[in-house]
Amino acid sequence: MAIKDEQQPLHILFLPFLAPGHLIPVADMAALFAARGVKCTILTTPVNAQVIRSAVDHANDASRGTEGALAIDIAVVPFPDVGLPPGVECGPALNSMEDREKFFHAVQLLRDPFVRFLAENRPDAVVSDSFFVWSADAAAEHGVPRIAFLGSSLFSRACNDTTVRNNPVEAAPDDPDALVLLPGLPHRVVLRRSQMFEPKKRPEHWASMQRGNAADQRSYGEVFNSFHELEPDYLEHYTTTLGRRAWLVGPVALASKDAATRGASNGLSPDANGCLQWLDTKQEGSVVYVSFGTLSHFSPPELRELARGLDMSGKNFVWVIGGGADTEESEWMPDGFAELMAGGDRGLIIRGWAPQMLILTHPAVGGFVTHCGWNSTLEAMSAGVPMVTWPRFADQFYNEKLVVELLKVGVGVGSTDYASKVETRRVIGGEVIAEAIVRVMGDGEDAVAIREKAKELAEKARRAVARGGSSYDDVGRLLDELMARRSSVNV
Ligand code: UDP
Repeated sequence: MAIKDEQQPLHILFLPFLAPGHLIPVADMAALFAARGVKCTILTTPVNAQVIRSAVDHANDASRGTEGALAIDIAVVPFPDVGLPPGVECGPALNSMEDREKFFHAVQLLRDPFVRFLAENRPDAVVSDSFFVWSADAAAEHGVPRIAFLGSSLFSRACNDTTVRNNPVEAAPDDPDALVLLPGLPHRVVLRRSQMFEPKKRPEHWASMQRGNAADQRSYGEVFNSFHELEPDYLEHYTTTLGRRAWLVGPVALASKDAATRGASNGLSPDANGCLQWLDTKQEGSVVYVSFGTLSHFSPPELRELARGLDMSGKNFVWVIGGGADTEESEWMPDGFAELMAGGDRGLIIRGWAPQMLILTHPAVGGFVTHCGWNSTLEAMSAGVPMVTWPRFADQFYNEKLVVELLKVGVGVGSTDYASKVETRRVIGGEVIAEAIVRVMGDGEDAVAIREKAKELAEKARRAVARGGSSYDDVGRLLDELMARRSSVNV
């Protein structure tokens, strides 16, 4: 094996999963590493490269004036031909079970270009999405340390680990409302059975969760978009009890030059200025922001109840209608809602991409109705905005527990059903939604306490990424270790 000059910068290859919620934090993380003198390459396919192109361009513009900073490369590889229509390469574009199966086949086929890159470039490490389970063996075969990344909280990763190893759902009574205790965690974490993934319903997915957990366990370690002060008990649990190595480098969006203006600057949100000007006319803390990320789908009855809830809450609102935007308005708009919107004063609906970071950090925004995707959750925490939690699937029910029960910076809307696009769930009434919004944005003692906690957390997040903060130091710790490893491999 050729010896690497120790004067050469570290080279890290990033392999993000093909969905915006995975790509965006990876681009921000690469920006953070590149600013510290690391050569970063992100390997992805053409449509997915577009999702992060502006983040990378911004980081590279900023690095030109900064001593020691390096530019980020995107290594674009063709999306494997698996029979999907041209341009369908990314999670949100998949609309049927058949398309999903083809997509996951393509995910397997990306092993070839990944291996070619390792052989030709010999990076010092690879930060691979946990969903690319095959990258563990591929990286090991090339003697490259694999650092896992899933873009989730340590808390939810710990919940996932105990679930995958102990399968507590299997042992629970066959009743959707049965309570399931997740064993071996620092806190008593209990979910309803209906809020959990059912291994028996999707055995292949369950098996791949197990393989994924095992692959991450035998990897070099794991990077987290989180920070020590946010979930210290789970950092301790992950490292001491589970014996896994972790570096917490977030919130990466706070450290990124692009994130603050994301959407406004990349042309994805043509109405960004209009939205911000509208917010400028509103009183501090008077607007609730409603968005469910890039993958959540709402049925017409759910949209109708949400519209009723926003109306009944009495609060101003910015509502991003993503999944379900294709649904005819006549199918879901409740009586009087069109008139409410026509007034232009109470609410704004955004169809498509919203400049989320700009909205969350606007002083007019006082609450966030969220699906608890980890990026959105952490972005709200970083902005000091309390949450109304409405999880749908994946790690979102775990993130809700962290937000509502452990950190106490949010109130749950009462979501009970784990269901992705293809399954159905119980509809939550508008009255309940309105009540939850008022519980975080009203004048009650609880609301005041939640708001104070949210502000404290934002301050801790800001300190973590600043020079000398815990996340800043964890980045340095990881880079030092990788450099030391290079020296020892060279010996
Ligand atoms: N996002 C955005 N504008 C939108 C929708 C999403 O900027 O209209 C960003 C959001 O700020 C976050 C990411 O997309 O960084 C969504 O990730 P998350 O983990 O919250 O949810 P997912 O889409 O993965 O379910």
